[in-house]
Amino acid sequence: MNKEKIPPRYFPEIDPEQCKGCGKCVYSCPKKILKAGDNINSYGFRYVVCVEDSCVGCGNCFYSCPEPGAIIIYSDDGEDEGEKSRK
Ligand code: SF4
Ligand code: SF4
Repeated sequence: MNKEKIPPRYFPEIDPEQCKGCGKCVYSCPKKILKAGDNINSYGFRYVVCVEDSCVGCGNCFYSCPEPGAIIIYSDDGEDEGEKSRK
């Protein structure tokens, strides 16, 4: 029996210690799900957080971020309970 293909879901993950709080990702996100968080990292930057589970995996945040490693987009590759993997 063919298993129906489930569209992949995407999850942005922000590393609080790498984020410098510049806001480029916040402005670049078409879903407006990235926001300046309430907390400050050890460098004194108010890092960004993801506030909703509706990422479309466009990659805008990743490509607009000047800090290597601050944002990674994970995908579940369409598996229901699949492991998240790098996009
Ligand atoms: S991948 Fe696209 S939709 Fe997802 S958080 Fe980044 S900018 Fe927003
Ligand atoms: S673009 Fe990168 S460094 Fe700037 S706020 Fe977003 S995650 Fe942080």
